[in-house]
Amino acid sequence: MYRKGAYVVDVREDRIAQVIGGTSSRVQLQSPDGSLQWEVPFAALRLATGAEREAAGLRPYLSTCPDCVELATRRRTAPPGQRGKATADAHLHWVTAHSTPEANR
Ligand SMILES: [Zn+2]
Repeated sequence: MYRKGAYVVDVREDRIAQVIGGTSSRVQLQSPDGSLQWEVPFAALRLATGAEREAAGLRPYLSTCPDCVELATRRRTAPPGQRGKATADAHLHWVTAHSTPEANR
């Protein structure tokens, strides 16, 4: 199972999406802008690469995670001198809460 917030590719349509829930056999996805939700068999997914996320302009952020929302707000509103710290905090949260280690796939 992918962790919530992980960016994956629906290989049937070659479409990048974000994991929002599901089971070990069916995974619930939403489009990166949050406008669409759909369900995909686990076997039809693979983890998006960093290059694919970048090409799609995606940042580590999950709109349904309160921590991500708060951290994004803090990063946006931080004075210039503290933006680096806010970004590091957001990254650390992302790695511990949402990133899917390759080995666990
Ligand atoms: Zn989060």
